[in-house]
Amino acid sequence: MSKAHRGTGVRKEPNHGRGKCPRCGKDNIKTLYEQEIDGQKVKICKYCKATLKNIAQKQARSGKAAAAKAAPAAEATAEAPQA
Ligand SMILES: [Zn+2]
Repeated sequence: MSKAHRGTGVRKEPNHGRGKCPRCGKDNIKTLYEQEIDGQKVKICKYCKATLKNIAQKQARSGKAAAAKAAPAAEATAEAPQA
């Protein structure tokens, strides 16, 4: 189970896991990383996987920040009718 993207593991893959990355369009690159893009499961290269991971992390972080910002506002509005 180790090294799923190197050595013996990729020999089982068609063309040794190499192909054209559907995201960046690079040819003859290892496309071993499954990723859901627009509801479609596609196999992308490690660079695109890293990029998408970074984007997702950034969004998660900004989403958390937005939620934290929204929460005090919601509390304030909830308290307002009582006062
Ligand atoms: Zn790519």
